[in-house]
Amino acid sequence: MLLRHTPKEVIERNALTINPAKTCQPIGAMYAALGIHRCFPHSHGSQGCCAYHRSTLTRHYKEPIMAGTSSFTEGASVFGGQANLVQALDNIYTIYKPDIVAVHTTCLSETIGDDIPQIVSKAQESGKIPEGKYIVYASTPSYVGSHITGFANMVSGIIQGFANQSERVIENRINIIPGWVEPSDMAEIRRMMSLMRAKYIMVPDTSDVLDAPLTGRHEFYPKGGTTIKELQSLGESSMTLALGHFTSVPGAETLRRLADVPYEFQDIPIGISATDRFLMAASHATGAEISESLETERGQLVDMISDMQQYLYGKSVAIYGDPDQLIGLTEFLLDLDMHPKYIISGSAGKVFTKRINALMEKYGKEAIVKNGPQADMFYLHQLIKNEKVDLLIGNTYGKYMARDEDIPFLRYGFPILDRVGHSYFPSVGYKGAMYMLKNILDLFLDRKDRDAPEESFELVM
Ligand code: SF4
Repeated sequence: MLLRHTPKEVIERNALTINPAKTCQPIGAMYAALGIHRCFPHSHGSQGCCAYHRSTLTRHYKEPIMAGTSSFTEGASVFGGQANLVQALDNIYTIYKPDIVAVHTTCLSETIGDDIPQIVSKAQESGKIPEGKYIVYASTPSYVGSHITGFANMVSGIIQGFANQSERVIENRINIIPGWVEPSDMAEIRRMMSLMRAKYIMVPDTSDVLDAPLTGRHEFYPKGGTTIKELQSLGESSMTLALGHFTSVPGAETLRRLADVPYEFQDIPIGISATDRFLMAASHATGAEISESLETERGQLVDMISDMQQYLYGKSVAIYGDPDQLIGLTEFLLDLDMHPKYIISGSAGKVFTKRINALMEKYGKEAIVKNGPQADMFYLHQLIKNEKVDLLIGNTYGKYMARDEDIPFLRYGFPILDRVGHSYFPSVGYKGAMYMLKNILDLFLDRKDRDAPEESFELVM
């Protein structure tokens, strides 16, 4: 009964967001930076912002998240944070010895109007950035956008810091910008590419960073992440596959602008159709054949869907979270003959509703689709109160309404603060789709077992 006061009646709101379905920009910037090998994220703002961003990432990934802060106090808040950032860079390179520092801004430093490129030049002139070390930056004010925008901005910032136009083009090698997905998903994309023997560079890559094993020895810089050498040769790839309109296209566009590398947009490969398209695009771009083992995995997924179709058909679902992930998830649910009924994202952008509505039309179904500031958890709860769904899919914050409304709940997206596994089990590719499907079916069948009268309580389902 935690949300028992949510009223059923939906009133149009223009200037109020209640329980947003997003979080703040720098979290995305920090996550992107952690996908670069020996990169140290730095938050140019007050300590509180940095502590919140680190703790959210730590709670989701169950890994220690390192990051520096310019530690603004009253003085920096009034006169600007140049001195703090220059001192911080000196300390970071001296004490933590990263190869790259990735600086992102916060609401406070943006409001003051700190000019990061100018401060970086100042630090370079005064010798605070040692020879052979690098600095990249992104503007991430959190009063606009979301963690998704922050991720995209930092990916662009990283690319901007390293992209070089090159005469040399390595035939059949592509860049992959994977979008905001889990380390397990990045590992799965790598696995699919190696099964195809395709040549690629992935940027960023948080696998082997935020899913590192417990060895008894702390690695300040884990072995994973895109390397400097790879970043420097992004301009030599024949093209870029940008997975996700919101999270990857801005980075791909930056690389096209600076290094003349063309790009192709694809959805994050969630579910059967998007994975088909991704593999075909990768095969076309690299000349590598889709391996037999991937075809087998696809066949197993189709088999699983047909075996359990009776439990999926017509089931209504409410989903909320990040736009690129929701587009893939909507298509997957439609492929399963389910009915995504409410689709809500706190991240703004017209492409989202356009893409979702096109999918719904293609499959002959209707949905309430909303994104941006007033597309919040409160609104979603109101929709559910008016007409219940069979399944709720989204991050941990949905657990309150799932409990209040007694709806099966699949945790998916960011952040997941109360369960583990998302760092290790993918949701992309055919394997990821099988894992997600298994979780959906478990929820439906557990519910059926719970609610079945004794005379129809079945052993075999
Ligand atoms: S919303 Fe702004 S002030 Fe608040 S934690 Fe995020 S960056 Fe800091």
